[in-house]
Amino acid sequence: IGEPSPQWLEYQGAPTGTDIECEGWRQEAALRLLNNNLDPDVGERPEELVVYGGTGRAARSWDAYDGILAELRDLESDETLLVQSGKPVGRFTTHERAPRVLIANSNLVGNWDDWEHFHELEARGLIMYGQMTAGSWAYIGTQGIIQGTFETLAEVARQHFPESEGLRGTITVTGGLGGMGGAQPLAVTMNHGVCIAAEVDERRIDRRLETDYCTEKTDDLGEAIELAREAAAAGEALSIGLHANAADMFDGMLEREFVPDIVTDQTSAHDELEGYYPAGYTVDEADRLRETDPDSYVAESLDTMTRHVEGILEMQERGAVAFEYGNNIRGQVQDHRDVENAFDFPGFVPAYIRPLFCRGKGPFRWVALSGDEADIHHTDDAVRDLFPDKENLHRWIDLAQEQVSFQGLPSRVCWLGYRAEDDPDGLTERARFALRINELVADGEITAPIVVTRDHLDAGSVASPNRETEAMRDGSDAVADWPILNALLNCAAGADIVSVHDGGGVGIGNAIHANNHVVLDGSDLAAEKARRVFTTDPGMGVIRHADAGYEDAIDEASASNVRVPMHDH
Ligand code: NAD
Repeated sequence: IGEPSPQWLEYQGAPTGTDIECEGWRQEAALRLLNNNLDPDVGERPEELVVYGGTGRAARSWDAYDGILAELRDLESDETLLVQSGKPVGRFTTHERAPRVLIANSNLVGNWDDWEHFHELEARGLIMYGQMTAGSWAYIGTQGIIQGTFETLAEVARQHFPESEGLRGTITVTGGLGGMGGAQPLAVTMNHGVCIAAEVDERRIDRRLETDYCTEKTDDLGEAIELAREAAAAGEALSIGLHANAADMFDGMLEREFVPDIVTDQTSAHDELEGYYPAGYTVDEADRLRETDPDSYVAESLDTMTRHVEGILEMQERGAVAFEYGNNIRGQVQDHRDVENAFDFPGFVPAYIRPLFCRGKGPFRWVALSGDEADIHHTDDAVRDLFPDKENLHRWIDLAQEQVSFQGLPSRVCWLGYRAEDDPDGLTERARFALRINELVADGEITAPIVVTRDHLDAGSVASPNRETEAMRDGSDAVADWPILNALLNCAAGADIVSVHDGGGVGIGNAIHANNHVVLDGSDLAAEKARRVFTTDPGMGVIRHADAGYEDAIDEASASNVRVPMHDH
């Protein structure tokens, strides 16, 4: 990838303020978001262009990064830049309502769609791993995942511990304190519970301590268990980063006959070479082994992963609630180590999230391009005013204001549904809120444009048989037409950046997913785009699940006038 670009060294994060380098705010938004992903306070290893999730990158090489910036700086407001796996490859005159940037990352033709072929192409500089929000420039740090993790754990509590106040009095055990996994301890404590999270890389634990996502650190398993038990018995919230390999932690807990209430994992198990760490090595030793003998690394990594999954299965057998948290650890050991019962514990989407997807509800995030925290506080007030009866949303915004530190450009996340109850114009919740933000920008209450985007993990934007589309009612788990239609529809509706990726959180060949951004600059054009995109994009979630036969989705389509041809409603 070459040496870090002098421009990146100078930026050290997104430019802020109201002066722009580009020809318009839509291009400027792309430039700021790319640099925000690579802000040392936001991305995990920006000096290697790695943003999060194993090797999820924002640009293919430092030359490509410079190339993208050069194109964005003089891109006209009726032009579209094409980015192929993190490298700018073309620029065409389109029109003002078209996207300014179109991105495709890591996509391979079916028969070649595996890690082996991907790594060959990567070594030749022909492709890049885009993960989900890394290669689409929508990553906003661990704050981006926190509400999803918080909501998932709240749902775990509702389903399995209905008598408790959230997770109060329970112990959750997990692994991985990286870019996404780092949200777990805070999401547990926000739900009043106790969390032990194993992490091999002490620097990652320190980062979570510094940003208040985690409160304690130890390398002594006995001490971690004791602290956790005491806190849970007292009904206190506590999070402990355990400096250990997750597989060793589970074995150690089983030896001590300690069974937590909930077990899951967010190590980067989707990538056995560059994401997951084998047991028996320090991080530096393992990094050297990866360089000198990648085959041995992969074999040892998969052996550890097998032990790790067996530990989770044994915990489940002994009474813990177990679920996979979207890193494909079950698929990995089933495919590579023939662990036949790996899928005995469910994925988090069918277990806790799909009912929301059926109703077009999904993660919605917005970023203040000014860099001014006050702009996000205005949006917090706006979302509260617009949805006065949504108690959970209010609780979330209060908690986020109190406990979630901003990273890079100030941002906020919340999950919004499809239908805005009683909206006189029949707007969706997302459209209604986006239009309100646009008005605040137009009025000057918000000082610079806000970009609205989302995770790729959304209602109608992913095909991922081991995660978002696991166990679909009609068996359509692997049908990837849906995310491709989603990307095409986002273009038709006029989103400003649209992307489609292979891989993401579960690894090459295991998922196709799409994303969009809309820049709310206060103009009528932005309002027009927002109204369309934030209707069609969540609408894809409704039609995808209605087509698969989910009653909730059919009901939502009927109540919200979403046209589903060939369905009687
Ligand atoms: P990351 O690469 O930034 O962090 C992974 C962390 O796991 C690293 O800190 C690494 O040191 C640690 N680790 C690796 N092997 C370990 C082991 N055996 N024991 C203990 N620690 C180990 O990745 P991330 O962004 O945090 O994502 C983690 C995983 O979750 C990825 O597979 C990702 O694709 C998936 N993911 C899930 C969701 C979701 O919504 N559930 C969202 C994004 C990503």
